[in-house]
Amino acid sequence: MTGGLLIIGSSQAGVSLATSLRALGHDGPITLLGDENHRPYQRPALSKEWLQGEITNESLMFRTGEYWAEHRIDVVKNERIIRIAKQDNGSGTAHAMSGREFPFDRLALAVGARPRRLLVDGVDLPGVLYLRNADDALELKARVPDVHDVVVIGGGFIGIEAAASLTKMGRSVTLLEAAPRLVARAVGEETSAYLLDHHRATGIDIVLDAVVRRIVPRGDRVGGVELADGRVLPADLVLVGVGVLPNTELAESIGLECDNGVRVDESALASDGVTVAVGDCANLPNPVPGAPPGDRVRFESVNNAIEQAKVAAYALTGRREEYAGIPWFWSNQGSLKLQIAGLSHGYDRTLVRSDPARGKYSVLYYRGADILAADCVNHPLDFMAVRAALAKRQHLPYDAAADPARPLKSVAADLAGTG
Ligand SMILES: Cc1cc2nc3c(=O)[nH]c(=O)nc-3n(C[C@H](O)[C@H](O)[C@H](O)COP(=O)(O)OP(=O)(O)OC[C@H]3O[C@@H](n4cnc5c(N)ncnc54)[C@H](O)[C@@H]3O)c2cc1C
Repeated sequence: MTGGLLIIGSSQAGVSLATSLRALGHDGPITLLGDENHRPYQRPALSKEWLQGEITNESLMFRTGEYWAEHRIDVVKNERIIRIAKQDNGSGTAHAMSGREFPFDRLALAVGARPRRLLVDGVDLPGVLYLRNADDALELKARVPDVHDVVVIGGGFIGIEAAASLTKMGRSVTLLEAAPRLVARAVGEETSAYLLDHHRATGIDIVLDAVVRRIVPRGDRVGGVELADGRVLPADLVLVGVGVLPNTELAESIGLECDNGVRVDESALASDGVTVAVGDCANLPNPVPGAPPGDRVRFESVNNAIEQAKVAAYALTGRREEYAGIPWFWSNQGSLKLQIAGLSHGYDRTLVRSDPARGKYSVLYYRGADILAADCVNHPLDFMAVRAALAKRQHLPYDAAADPARPLKSVAADLAGTG
């Protein structure tokens, strides 16, 4: 043994891999290395509770310094790996920009994703920000007190969450979405429409089908966003949230197959059969029971980073474990809490369970008689029922589920009881 396991990327997936390995009793050296100058921290609250000042910096941290020391996980901050030399047996050396070298017996890539850049004039003006990491979030939060008008470009989860937070913080927010509906990549039309109505009602000015022509200056800073129809929306701050790209450069440089992420198998092993790749950077076989053969997915979620890291931890200890559970995701947007269970790809009909009086709203996605997924707004019971039914491969009969007064759990239980 020369270097043990080197995990590049010390965020959700890297941390989960290191902690899962120790939980499995793996005793070898583990180096958890990242290029940020912070202790490993969780990202989700950066656009939500933390931005709004509801929680402290400390509460974002994954683990205490004592945990890392006790579990002999060597956490290395502020080192960016720029080159890797790897042998066929999986061992090698990673070279950091600083000149430091990190030898390893096995390598894990948990390098995540980076924001897709907007390619229009004016994006480099001061006051045009992205939101992926703690430094981005610190800059955004520091600027908020001096800002009145905010334009958010991108109506995906991060754009909407940040828009909702900034609105709650008293800013005047316009959100621009290029598509005809919000979060079109992740939810169906009913959920998009519900989110649109809700966020408009809270005061966010949402422009759909918006084509950004350029970002215009005011003095030497950002001053507004010009749309293709000639309108100029005033902005003291522009936040761009137009998706992320997986960081595959290191993987490609050592010859690993990549295609919208590092291609891995069911055990999180890359194409060389020894390196693992986990989290937002990995492209994996669709883990949902009953998924079409050969179907692949790349998730951008905490749940996936944790589950895939567990699978990878087994693989690194010579055991095989299938991806457990059903993919799920959450997005808190102001007072609205969206939870998504399963993957709706390939659905052919939907069912809406709406309880306006209690602010609950769920959309269930079916293919034929089979439930595939659900988007649940402020409806944790529906979310848990669908997640459980998917995990147990139960049916949630469409007609029975259509009664919003009937708990979904009882619908699934009925079938199990009779079947
Ligand atoms: C603002 C925000 C809100 C979010 N909200 C939610 C939510 O509500 N629910 C949810 O499920 N998910 C949410 N997500 C997504 C979730 O945070 C990600 O899915 C998760 O962080 C992925 O973890 P990861 O470890 O795979 O990648 P990342 O978190 O991207 O971490 C990768 C790490 O590797 C480092 N790195 C990259 N290249 C190198 C290199 N060459 N050398 C050294 N280090 C390197 C990066 O700097 C980074 O620290 C949110 C994300 C953001 C940004």
